[in-house]
Amino acid sequence: SFAVTGATGALGTLVINALADRVPADQIVALVRDLGKAAPLAARGVTVREFDYDRSDTLAPALDSVDRLLLISSNQVGRRFAQHKAVIDAAVGAGVSRIAYTSLLGAKATSNPLASEHVATEDYLAESGVTPVLLRNGWYTENFVGTLHSAAQTGTVLTSAGEGRVASAARADYAEAAAAALAADRPSGIYELSGDVAWTQADLAAAIGEVLGREITVHDVSPAEHASILAEAGVDAGAAGFAVAIDATIAAGELGIVTGDLSRLIGRPTTPLIDTLRAAA
Ligand code: NDP
Repeated sequence: SFAVTGATGALGTLVINALADRVPADQIVALVRDLGKAAPLAARGVTVREFDYDRSDTLAPALDSVDRLLLISSNQVGRRFAQHKAVIDAAVGAGVSRIAYTSLLGAKATSNPLASEHVATEDYLAESGVTPVLLRNGWYTENFVGTLHSAAQTGTVLTSAGEGRVASAARADYAEAAAAALAADRPSGIYELSGDVAWTQADLAAAIGEVLGREITVHDVSPAEHASILAEAGVDAGAAGFAVAIDATIAAGELGIVTGDLSRLIGRPTTPLIDTLRAAA
């Protein structure tokens, strides 16, 4: 059967739906930390099993008779490599034949502060003896819904990303790709997944302006100015530093890589920026 971790999360829920379009529901195992959140999954006819990365006693039993596993990267940044390692160890022990993992676009060659745990997980997977499928996800367009909301207040898109481009795609696009890679005959591979269109901050401001029906301009500042504007707005130092670091990776072009892997896997173009913004507005 096919199992998906983090199945009650935003991506996981969409993966279960996309997988159910490809394989019979009774072959799908939704692995969840909190059984209390799993009623909608159970209603789809998939098997639900408790699976908490931090409780090793839940891991091996839940992988009984699982052949292919999608490990959705944890959202517990800083602790997640240990969590992923525990899952991989349990999967190897349970005889899982294929492990797909949601990594980061260009994981091995990016200054993105989130990359190190993805690289550590990729390397651990490579040594595990199971042929891995690396789904190196670019940015979700949904990450910019907050930008839309602040632009609605300020009339501007605040950025230190300069002319850097972002090839974002909808979360649902990445979910469909994960389901396709898990169900596909091809047992292993590295996919650099990103949107078909790499857009600039000016493109983002134009799309937000179109959704809001007003003019939105780009407020392009240096990284230092960006940090101080966020601090003045009451954003805590950690979150501000993270936002500035992400804009630096965008400025460097690292989130603008377009390979076409995503649209090829899902067999259609990726969802346009404006469609996701409009749906979230
Ligand atoms: P979510 O935060 O919605 O999902 C994260 C999932 O991880 C949740 O289902 C959560 O369980 C699960 N989880 C966390 N800790 C544990 C644990 N100890 N044991 C078992 N499960 C656990 O994020 P998304 O679905 O939107 O994204 C999936 C992943 O992709 C994120 O976790 C993150 O690594 C990465 N990401 C990528 C982005 C991008 O732009 N490429 C943007 C944001 C995240 P529960 O449902 O119980 O909370």
